[in-house]
Amino acid sequence: MRGRNSSRAPRWWVGLGVLMLGACGSSPPQRPVVAASPPAATAAPAPTPYAVPLAFVARPALPPPSPVIPGPAVAPAIAARFPEPAISFATPAFEPGRTAYTTNDELRAILHGLERSGVDSAPRTDVAVLPLGTSQSGLPIEALAFTRTPVAAPPAPAPPASDASAPAPSVAAAARRPAVVLIAGQHGDEPAGSEALIVIAQELAAGRLDSVLDQVDVYLLPRANPDGAALGQRGAADGSDVNRDHLLLRTPEAQAQAQLVRDVAPVVVLDLHEYAVDAGFAAKFGGVQRFDALLDTATVANLRPFVARAAEEWFRAPLAASLGAAGFSTEWYYTLAADPADRKVSMGSVSPRIGRNADGIKNAVSLLVETRGRGIGRTDFKRRVDVDVVAVRSVLGNAAAHAGDLVKLRQFVERDIVAGACQGEAVIEAAPTPSEHALAMLDPNTGAIRPVTVAWDSALELRVLKSRPRPCGYWLAASESDAVRRLRLLGVEVQQLEEAGEVRGETYREIGRDPPAAAGDDSPRLRVQTAPVLLDVVAGGYYVSLEQPLANLAIAALEPESPAGYAANGVIGGVVAEARVLDRPRMRMVGLP
Ligand SMILES: [Zn+2]
Repeated sequence: MRGRNSSRAPRWWVGLGVLMLGACGSSPPQRPVVAASPPAATAAPAPTPYAVPLAFVARPALPPPSPVIPGPAVAPAIAARFPEPAISFATPAFEPGRTAYTTNDELRAILHGLERSGVDSAPRTDVAVLPLGTSQSGLPIEALAFTRTPVAAPPAPAPPASDASAPAPSVAAAARRPAVVLIAGQHGDEPAGSEALIVIAQELAAGRLDSVLDQVDVYLLPRANPDGAALGQRGAADGSDVNRDHLLLRTPEAQAQAQLVRDVAPVVVLDLHEYAVDAGFAAKFGGVQRFDALLDTATVANLRPFVARAAEEWFRAPLAASLGAAGFSTEWYYTLAADPADRKVSMGSVSPRIGRNADGIKNAVSLLVETRGRGIGRTDFKRRVDVDVVAVRSVLGNAAAHAGDLVKLRQFVERDIVAGACQGEAVIEAAPTPSEHALAMLDPNTGAIRPVTVAWDSALELRVLKSRPRPCGYWLAASESDAVRRLRLLGVEVQQLEEAGEVRGETYREIGRDPPAAAGDDSPRLRVQTAPVLLDVVAGGYYVSLEQPLANLAIAALEPESPAGYAANGVIGGVVAEARVLDRPRMRMVGLP
């Protein structure tokens, strides 16, 4: 088996690699590399609409919105570090005297007010509201599409609030140009991103970003968790964390995002959040959080190295530079341990259930911007929104500048993944690497910058904790239709067996079950042993081939020891209902529509 080397890379990438290395003073981050194979001539399949949406019980209507939390008192020397930008935004939250953020009703009116067919204008840009489903309390979850191709489905009436299972129209045919997806408001108490995406929608609609729309289609999901926004809380109506639900898809909010990403297959996804300004930081370090924005890319096992490199060199590094030029300070995204005695600082999670990581193994350049804003009410709100606006403009500009290369990158990576089935290793679980980092913070009295060397779990270098030979695919018992629906909503292709047969494989046996591995993780962990078998399979069962672009997403869902795997979380009825398949099955199968 051959490892990845430049002689197998297509000509465009060789030139590109030289350019990127020349432009970047330091080595690109090292990530675990799964043995690769030569690209094959297999075309990426078109996304398919899903027939049966996942059931979700709608919850009662929300109580009245909670008032905006007042910001904590801030020392003048700290406040002076974050001056209000001399700029004005025309969104409801910035109306004179207003204290509340833009409400869900106001946002909805803005999105629908921007809708238009571009037939009579030049250049032609269609602006369409895409209904993606409803929240747990029955609020519409809507994206706004700026495209220069016809949107496939005619505008459909939103499903009634009580019917969360009504199918949403597919937007598949709108995805013929490279797409960029911008997401905000997955966490309801992080309002800056939603406000910023209204500003960006206004700019796109006014033609001020036409050079972007000349190259890419842009999809905005300004408020991915409308219930959380209405309640002023992080989680959805039932308290679940939408951003940790991108593999299991338990919430209608995560299902809506999965549908959007599956249907438009974005080459770039940007997810806007706000980080907690206190979170024990002052108690642990005696300093105040310093950065306007914390930035990250996907950091997850089996992420393709070229995708990681494109994210870093075409997007994150220029984004940090753009923010710096605008007077905003940045750092890698980091979090603190919940334990007050634990002074370790960790980069963002490496779990595939996190949106940023799930999008990475959907082979998109995946970016995270976290502004300095959670838990401080409206303090510095205009500055926080401005940071996001500058960040989004940077990402859109670079997506447009690299549009052709992003399409080629996607095609190459997909062919490479398809050709890599049945050989090499697949990482089942990875962990960040302990290191140290000089983290700047602010003196709480003087506001002076104070560097502190901290223990730092780096997600830029992942350690492989568990790997197995990459199978050809996975067999699922006929009983696992729920897992199949979730996989298909993620965009994973699944085939159904039309006849019985034998196939060489490995079964799993559960040998232990551990509690969640890390704070903030609620997924139990399975320990399994595998045994080689000749599988007797019957008609009606399912086959998930790894000869498909989303193979690494399938591995994250189906390997029982994967973080947030389907078997550990009861989506699959025990590890006996799935098996690793080591030869291509020869029995007759049909692809699910
Ligand atoms: Zn967040």
